[in-house]
Order: sequence, then structure tokens, then C-alpha cells
Amino acid sequence: MLRINNLHAQIEEGVEILKGINLEIKPGEVHAIMGPNGAGKSTLSSVIAGKEDYEVTQGEIIFEGENIVEDAPEERAHKGLFLSFQYPVEIPGVTVTNFIKAAINENRKAKGLSDMPAKELLALVRENAEKLSIRKDFLGRSLNEGFSGGEKKRNEIFQMLMLNPKLAMLDETDSGLDIDALRIVADGVNSFRNEGNAVLVITHYQRLLDYIQPDYVHVLADGKIIKTGDKSLALELEEKGYDWLLN
Ligand code: ADP
Ligand code: MG
Ligand code: MG
Repeated sequence: MLRINNLHAQIEEGVEILKGINLEIKPGEVHAIMGPNGAGKSTLSSVIAGKEDYEVTQGEIIFEGENIVEDAPEERAHKGLFLSFQYPVEIPGVTVTNFIKAAINENRKAKGLSDMPAKELLALVRENAEKLSIRKDFLGRSLNEGFSGGEKKRNEIFQMLMLNPKLAMLDETDSGLDIDALRIVADGVNSFRNEGNAVLVITHYQRLLDYIQPDYVHVLADGKIIKTGDKSLALELEEKGYDWLLN
């Protein structure tokens, strides 16, 4: 589904953040990326999503057989890539439901489809709201306006389920993530994952991985993946930190 070959990216001339990333994600897999602060984890997810702050100087990002390095972020989203936003903007007057409706219909339009019929949308909203224990009044609130940390998380995961991407990337850098928020993310990922899609979760929290069960755990340090293992690597990192890997 995703193959990254020797990816190098910089923020400005000469300031390289990603220094040769190789990563392969197959359908049905969940990958976790861990690593010290400033390693380039958020940069990697941003570069995959196509955020324009970064320049790819070398390498390829092959998604579903196509190199997407030159694609705009919207094109990548239309192809089935999703990146959750850590601090999404407040949009007064635009409700949770209307926001996701617009995103779904934009995706459909890009594929030459007409808007999702209201009935179908409503059924999908109900189904996914139920999975995340989202109440009806929440769906009618303005996007992110006065949302608590847990509500923001719930909304992010709701968006993921509604958009149903092929590859979902979650960047869980928020140091305020409490146990409830961890559970929202974990439950969301577990109800999302299936044989045909994949998840890339970036996290500082070994604890999140207790609930998600990744197939692979990668350690990113100084712009490179320096170690790959299974779930037990996350436990080892929890116990020993990162220093033993860095020399
Ligand atoms: P992580 O998510 O692993 O903590 P980041 O990807 O956020 O790391 O950052 C990696 C390095 O790149 C850091 O040194 C950070 O300061 C720098 N960096 C990332 N994005 C930017 C940016 N837009 N402007 C300036 N520096 C950046
Ligand atoms: Mg950071
Ligand atoms: Mg980060």
C-alpha cells in the first residue's frame, strides 16, 4: 500500500529533517512510530500527507503503486490518505456533521461522483457515532469550538471513520493525552482497521500500543529509522528509553 524509498526532506535549504527513510506498509497492517522528541516523526507524517512546509529532496513515496511526491495534499487525500490534525482550527457556524459532509462530498467529486445521498450520510453518521459513543448534540456543535481534549480526539477519530481512508495516519504528540483520550483513539483504530486498510500511528505512549497492538514498531531518531521490531520493542523502549539505541 505504501512504500517509502530513501526519503529525504528539508524545511529550508540545507536543513534536512528526514535523512533517508525506508518504510513499507501492507494492507491490514498497523505500524507504530516512536522516537525521541525532535526526531522527525511529525515531519514524516506531514511529508507523506504532502504538507507544503517541507521539500522532498530525494526519494519516493509510492502509494498504491504511484509516486505521490508531486501530488498536492488534497489529491493525496482523494487517493485515500488521511492525517489527523493535532490542533484543528475552530470553525464557528460549521457543525461536526456539516464539516465531514463537505469533506466526503469533496472526495466524491474528485472521483466524479455526485453528493452522498442524505439518507446514506445519515446512516453512516449514526453508525460511526455509535462506535465512538458520540451523542447527537455533539454532532450539531461548531467544529472544535470549546471542545475538550477528549472531544477533539473523538472528532478526529470520527472523521477518520467517516472518510474511511486506505491509510490513516495519527500523530499523537499531545502530551495531555489522558487515559480516556487514549481509549478513544485505540477503540477508533480497532474498529477502523481491516484487511484492506492500514494505520500508521505516531506516539510517545507505549500505553496506547497496549490497546492497539501494532504489527510493527519503528524507532525514528535524527531523521532515520534506526530500529524496527514488533510490539515487544515498544515494551523495551518503555523500560529502557531510547539512549541504548542512539550510539
Ligand atoms: P517529532 O515529531 O519527532 O518530535 P518533528 O518532526 O516535529 O519531530 O521535528 C523534527 C525537527 O524538525 C525538529 O528539530 C523541529 O524543530 C524541526 N522542524 C519540524 N518542522 C519544522 C518547521 N515547520 N519549521 C522549522 N523547524 C521544523
Ligand atoms: Mg515533537
Ligand atoms: Mg511530533
